[in-house]
Amino acid sequence: MADAGPQSSNDATGANDAAGANVVTRFAPSPTGYLHIGGARTALFNWLFARHHGGKFLLRVEDTDRARSTEEAIAAIFDGLDWLGLGGDEEPVFQFARAARHAEVAHQLLADGHAYKCFATPDELTALREEQRAARKPMRYDGRWRDRDPAEGGDKPYVIRLKAPKEGETVIADAVQGRVVVQNVELDDMILLRSDGTPTYMLAVVVDDHDMGVTHIIRGDDHLNNAFRQLGIITAMDAIEGGWPKPVYAHIPLIHGADGAKLSKRHGAMGVDAYRDELGMLPEAVANYLLRLGWGHGDEETLSIARAIELFDLAGVGRSPSRFDIKKLENMNGHYMREADDARLAALVAPLLSAQGLTVDATLLESAMPSLKLRAKTVHDVADGARFLFTPRPIPIDAAAKVLLDDAAFALIKSVADRFDVLTDWTMEAIETAVRAAAEDAGIGLGKVAQPLRVALTGRTTSPGIFDVVFLLGKDETLARLSDMSHYVADGHNS
Ligand code: GLU
Repeated sequence: MADAGPQSSNDATGANDAAGANVVTRFAPSPTGYLHIGGARTALFNWLFARHHGGKFLLRVEDTDRARSTEEAIAAIFDGLDWLGLGGDEEPVFQFARAARHAEVAHQLLADGHAYKCFATPDELTALREEQRAARKPMRYDGRWRDRDPAEGGDKPYVIRLKAPKEGETVIADAVQGRVVVQNVELDDMILLRSDGTPTYMLAVVVDDHDMGVTHIIRGDDHLNNAFRQLGIITAMDAIEGGWPKPVYAHIPLIHGADGAKLSKRHGAMGVDAYRDELGMLPEAVANYLLRLGWGHGDEETLSIARAIELFDLAGVGRSPSRFDIKKLENMNGHYMREADDARLAALVAPLLSAQGLTVDATLLESAMPSLKLRAKTVHDVADGARFLFTPRPIPIDAAAKVLLDDAAFALIKSVADRFDVLTDWTMEAIETAVRAAAEDAGIGLGKVAQPLRVALTGRTTSPGIFDVVFLLGKDETLARLSDMSHYVADGHNS
């Protein structure tokens, strides 16, 4: 590998987005772990770019690392993409299954003199590296078999290497990074086919992108160095048979944590499934947040999918690393929770409550949703807020709430209960009138009545609006819970 990184300059505008309708993008995860948040953003950008141009978005599973690629990871990646609505437009391509095709291209390059057999042994190469290290020279293959007669190798094992240009420079007009240049002398003759006949990653990627008709490669900027090597293969194949156009590259900056350090699990670099299952996020919130993480259009923060498709372009992708901020994501999620359909939210929340051993009344849960979701940032918040609805009597009173249960509170609870008892209409208005009357009678503010009432009905100091709570519980349950409070005193539980 060349050790000098590419030099970027901003004197070029880079490739633009005037891409036309034949756009083909792809997302090419290596299935060695879950779909992490950075991968999800890469997939989203590719998907949006293809949709924006009326093109195609394809998936390729880069499963050539047989030791590290697992079925579970493949399933987790597809699951995460599906959840975010980022399915491919065609059946996914599995890279390992295409090894024969990759080898075919290596042999084509060999036959046409764009590649050569290298018989250098591992020991020889180690010695070469040691020499270079000692001389403080960059460590690269020195091309020792480039011009030798392969007959000299006899029947010894060999690898096939690309005959990379030695002079000049390779330029990429990256749609995000701008004009990036590498001196060709820095690019050594990389291996295309190993001595066991298996293709290298670099070859596989290029052949697959070509065969899949990929026009735009949008990926993390950790792949920028690879692009120069990949271009070498593309250029050689184009010289041989034509029809190997250079793709437009867009290398997007990686995501960092809020503290500027590389994103780690501590920052929220978890699998996308954890955002759903552990954090209770909605997919549209995660997608919107990821979109804004590294791409912008004016100051639009919340964008529908349709709006995102309409606006997405590579010019709007920033050049500096974005900072992942879980608080912003939570706020975004809160926004989408409030917009979300109540039946959909109820269906997400019900299993969480059932898992806590509660028997859920789906209709009640759905009718409670408008008030529950008001203050919720996550699906878990809603589940937490909804628990009181299904908690069997006598409901437990938590420690902070217990403190509020003094004699005055019990008197107020009793006074409200008496007023509720005679109500014939269980409406929000009737409930509110009754509570206000109790407050007036006692010569105190509404809040002073609401708080003991809340404790008696929910066991907690926070809940949806008190009139909502009373209304949702219904008359019988409300009266029963309020009456439980008298036993509560009698049993001396409030001491
Ligand atoms: N499989 C590579 C990765 O997961 C992506 C390769 C590419 O996009 O060219 O990082």
